[in-house]
Amino acid sequence: MAAEAIDANIRGIKIERKEYHKGRPAPEELKRKEKIPRSKMPKLKQDKRKGFDEVELGLDENTVKKEVERCLNCAICCECFQCDKVCEPNAIAHDLDDKILEFDVGAIVVATGFDLYSPDKLKEYGYGSIPDVITSLQFERLLSASGPTTGDVKRISDGKVPKRVVFIQCAGSRDKENHLEYCSKICCMYTAKHALLYKHRVPDGEPIIFYIDVRTAGKGYEEFYNRVTDEGTIYIRGKVSKVYQDNGRIIVLGADTLSGKQVEVEADMVVLALGMVPKQESEDLVRRLKIQCDANEFLTEAHPKLRPVESQTAGIFLAGAAQGPKDIPEVVAQASGAASKAIAILTQKEITFEPTIAGVDEDLCSGCSICVGVCPYNARELDKEKMIVKVIESLCQGCGSCSAACPSGAAQQRNLIDRQIEEMVVTALGEK
Ligand code: SF4
Ligand code: SF4
Ligand code: SF4
Repeated sequence: MAAEAIDANIRGIKIERKEYHKGRPAPEELKRKEKIPRSKMPKLKQDKRKGFDEVELGLDENTVKKEVERCLNCAICCECFQCDKVCEPNAIAHDLDDKILEFDVGAIVVATGFDLYSPDKLKEYGYGSIPDVITSLQFERLLSASGPTTGDVKRISDGKVPKRVVFIQCAGSRDKENHLEYCSKICCMYTAKHALLYKHRVPDGEPIIFYIDVRTAGKGYEEFYNRVTDEGTIYIRGKVSKVYQDNGRIIVLGADTLSGKQVEVEADMVVLALGMVPKQESEDLVRRLKIQCDANEFLTEAHPKLRPVESQTAGIFLAGAAQGPKDIPEVVAQASGAASKAIAILTQKEITFEPTIAGVDEDLCSGCSICVGVCPYNARELDKEKMIVKVIESLCQGCGSCSAACPSGAAQQRNLIDRQIEEMVVTALGEK
């Protein structure tokens, strides 16, 4: 609502205002209304409050409905309209309702982001059962001045400052058999940052990082890694097999692959450097936009080298970690590329397409509509009068699915029908 009002103000559009208090109960009527007490918020029991779990458990659906019905719609608690008095450009409109807006657009940039790999799948590292085993994002919150400890690094279990923190890199990544096959690209560097910040907050603390490789491919990254090791972080090359508790102590069991020995490290806190996975909530959007995904469900670009910000569908561009793990500078560069590509389309008077789009041999087409069902871009439709299929040329991407599916050979790529391909092969082989 506010955005719409600001936009209208910038464009110089006058917003029609309704009468604000229309439909509100009169003061006498309000006095007669029965006072219903507020519903009680269920809370986590005192003895269960150890980790990052919310203390307030939230209301169930029925209770929420009852709470909503308690509202008298009297506008005493809100809509005092003081903001109207101070807003000089008169950009505030209290009477705008929520709306679903539909736009005709010429280009779409899909930047749906990522989720962290679920630590619940890493039972061997004790997440969920050992309170001081936390995720990298939770550690980031501990370091933050606006976080739950206002930037002090403290254990979740007892509030003490941890004197030894073990960071486990590749938590969930690069493990084809059990978890994710790919490298998540960002966790080497954010772990190095976490270790350095921890060392700054707790100068007598001991950060230890278990790693498979340290991947520092980025401008200044190797120098940063050197600084982290110079300032006292210990790197142990090896994979952690287990994190467990023994008499209240946290034990990290792993292998040092450089010395070839098994190592057992006692830790006050363990931080899991979780990998990146595609955003789960974006599945529906991706399906509706008909964007192809790779084996790991990241969005697939049209060509990894020549068209890295374009999807297979013309006019739909990709940006950010929705396409694959990447860090902030890479995301910014890719998003700028996607925006430039979108602007290039919007500023053209005419759009040019590849010539190899689909066609229909009307003499052969039986109107069976098999090709209509297989076309991923909705570029084919049945002419019910003539009972033949037509191609919507502006939508066809020349993918060839219809040609492969057509039982009668009526669906063919234009300028590339079977007979032409045969002729090309014969010519190339020098046969008559
Ligand atoms: S970026 Fe580093 S920590 Fe993350 S998966 Fe790759 S190698 Fe492992
Ligand atoms: S599959 Fe072939 S025959 Fe059937 S409607 Fe499509 S073009 Fe015509
Ligand atoms: S080639 Fe066929 S299946 Fe592919 S987009 Fe064009 S009409 Fe649809």
